[in-house]
Amino acid sequence: MKELYKDIYKFEIPLPKSALKEINIYVIKSEGRSLVIDTGYNNDESKKYMKENLAKIGLEIKDCDLFLTHLHADHTGLATFFEDNGSSVYTGKKEGALINDNTKDSYWEYFMTFPALYDMAGVLTLEDYIGHKFKLSHELNFIGLEIGEIFKVGDYEFEVLDLRGHTPWHIGLYEKNHKFLFGGDTVLDPITPNITFWGFEYGNILGLYINTLKKLMTVGIDVILSSHRAPISNPNKRISEIIYHHYLRFQEILDSMNCDRDDYTIREISSKITWRIRANSWEEFPIEQKWFAVGETMVHMVYLMEYGYVECKKVGGALKFKKIKSDIMEEYEEYKKGEI
Ligand SMILES: [Zn+2]
Repeated sequence: MKELYKDIYKFEIPLPKSALKEINIYVIKSEGRSLVIDTGYNNDESKKYMKENLAKIGLEIKDCDLFLTHLHADHTGLATFFEDNGSSVYTGKKEGALINDNTKDSYWEYFMTFPALYDMAGVLTLEDYIGHKFKLSHELNFIGLEIGEIFKVGDYEFEVLDLRGHTPWHIGLYEKNHKFLFGGDTVLDPITPNITFWGFEYGNILGLYINTLKKLMTVGIDVILSSHRAPISNPNKRISEIIYHHYLRFQEILDSMNCDRDDYTIREISSKITWRIRANSWEEFPIEQKWFAVGETMVHMVYLMEYGYVECKKVGGALKFKKIKSDIMEEYEEYKKGEI
């Protein structure tokens, strides 16, 4: 337990079997209702950590309301537990609707149409998808926040920021007077946030994410209090690194393709590019990791499609790609010039 600013505390809740290791929970203590930001998974261990740490600063669950940055299970797991103890749960209006959608079978039926697009029907199973494994058991009765809305807790005044990308409607809380941001999973260090496919209705979500990052660079933030690992004290430097990382990824994908073929699938491209995971080959990837990998490849391909680097057609249910242009680093150099 650490006091980061007056009445703002941070502690960690372990995330067993996750590469993220733990989630940072932030608490703003107030004479009125205190606020907890995000929760950890829905299990007894998280409940125990939550209660024990709140007790250290003289709080119980019933004294606190809850703010959710985004829908992922490591952030929302205990939300119904908070509700059952009388807490109000705040999140973005649209993200909240998606959280509730995720509790329905119809959502997952739609979600399971994605493996065919990747040419992996029958390989990727719902049981192996982490988001489904840890989903909430029932809908939340949340209070939906609008982008730009001012949200007050104790002496602090937060602006609700649009941080979409890591999830379709991820939000954050920016404190203008102290120049810090509760950024959820939008900017992490040294890991890079996972960006994945949520359906074509969300458009070029990696492009939206990169735009979110570019906008954040203009806000004048001193510190990002992120949900995993240490606070980020030089946000613009880290944001630049993440943008660069995605360009390198685009280029790696383009380099893995020949111009004379028009039948590259998400599965094949995913098996050719490099991943930071301990497995000797694509075949040895656990299914859980394959889900992450193909989702990431897919959003990079959607971006490349939007900017004319690849073309795509659907053949027999699977997406087939053809490379049109080979060099995206020129575009990056142009962007860097503009930034300076
Ligand atoms: Zn997340």
